Amino acid sequence: LPVIALIGRPNVGKSTLFNQLTRSRDALVADFPGLTRDRQYGNGRVGDSPYLVVDTGGLVGGEEGLDSLMADQVWQAVDEADAVIFLLDARDGLNLSDEQIAERLRRSGKRAWLALNKSDGQDTDAIVADAYALGLGDPVPIAATQGHGVTSLINRVLADFPAHEEVEAEKRAHKGIRIAVVGRPNVGKSTLTNRMLGEERVLAYDQPGTTRDSIYIDFERDGEPYTLIDTAGVRRRSKVSETIEKFSVIKTLQAINDADVALLVLDAHAGEVTEQDATLAGHILESGTALVVTVNKWDGLDEDQRNWYRNQLDRRLPFLGFAERYFISALHGSGVGDLYKAVKTAHRSASIKVGTSELTQLLEKAVHDHQPPLVRGRRIKLRYAHQGGQYPPVIVIHGNQTSRLPHTYKRYLNNYFRSALKLVGTPIRFEFKTGD
Ligand code: GDP
Repeated sequence: LPVIALIGRPNVGKSTLFNQLTRSRDALVADFPGLTRDRQYGNGRVGDSPYLVVDTGGLVGGEEGLDSLMADQVWQAVDEADAVIFLLDARDGLNLSDEQIAERLRRSGKRAWLALNKSDGQDTDAIVADAYALGLGDPVPIAATQGHGVTSLINRVLADFPAHEEVEAEKRAHKGIRIAVVGRPNVGKSTLTNRMLGEERVLAYDQPGTTRDSIYIDFERDGEPYTLIDTAGVRRRSKVSETIEKFSVIKTLQAINDADVALLVLDAHAGEVTEQDATLAGHILESGTALVVTVNKWDGLDEDQRNWYRNQLDRRLPFLGFAERYFISALHGSGVGDLYKAVKTAHRSASIKVGTSELTQLLEKAVHDHQPPLVRGRRIKLRYAHQGGQYPPVIVIHGNQTSRLPHTYKRYLNNYFRSALKLVGTPIRFEFKTGD
């Protein structure tokens, strides 16, 4: 999955471009009450090609103090990205900060594209010449607010990367269900990874290309193949002294995208479910990866503390109701073996294939049990359903006036299909088509 970082001075339009590049997420956020949008990392796609965008926040020239702290994060993001879009402001023209950023970008050797934002209604000839002089190639004129030029920009950026099919083929080289163990620092990912691998037969592990890459470890359990995507860098550290690997959000998001099933590890000793936990959960939803909620460090808690934590899960992660929860101790090993059953169930659910006639019959039954409402004297009609995709399962429903279907009825359909198809550990996405 190509990772694209957006950089530039404050107010050049990075967040606007970020929103344009990740627009599909608005629908997702609306589908899952309680979920908030991550404003820094987002998935997007043009045609069949997915990508990950990082909004780095503003870079000011001549960094000192706090600004240079910010800058460190920005350049770390650049370092981890595969490509950079450097935004310029066609209204303001170029200034010293732009030149400094360009200079550093050139030295980084990172593939970079210049986007000349706010190009609408401007005579850009002079600034195009200035931008070209930055030594980063031809600037692409865009207007992020209206979305002008954005598709052409992203297509140019993505042209450098292998086609999606090639990536999928490489994925299939690993035979087993791909499991990503993800979570914020210190929740116990390494401990869990070691525990899982310590008990099984490890067949092979890949050497990562760069520090950003996760390691893929093939192993067997009860004769069945699995691949563990190690974001914690367990197998990279040869000595105990090389303890903590720098936490990388990008690496985590890559692993989620690459996996069939994510084990979202939460820390029951930490007390609260944090914003970062919720954000990661949101990214798992966004990617369509199946999910098992894995609450770690369940040892050493009394019944009150456990109830309190269960409550936290309901309150802070209400949108994860579709996933199974496991309470484990990676340290002592309790509950770890049970995770495999949950992984298999979630994987089966997310990759299910259902024929059109079966789905249509289920739809007819659902409608028979509980009719959609009348709108302006006419009943909303749902005629047939077919499957539109996997990871997560997409159910496409055709009918009349479907755009007027109330939220409560959609929720009813969701619950109906979920229980009829026995789907656990994956959301279902509905698309409604209308004949009028
Ligand atoms: P990572 O950063 O997510 O990889 O977390 P680590 O696996 O390095 O664990 C962080 C700390 O939590 C270490 O001190 C572990 O010993 C401890 N820890 C991990 N799992 C458990 C557990 O199940 N119970 C308890 N009590 N501590 C744990």
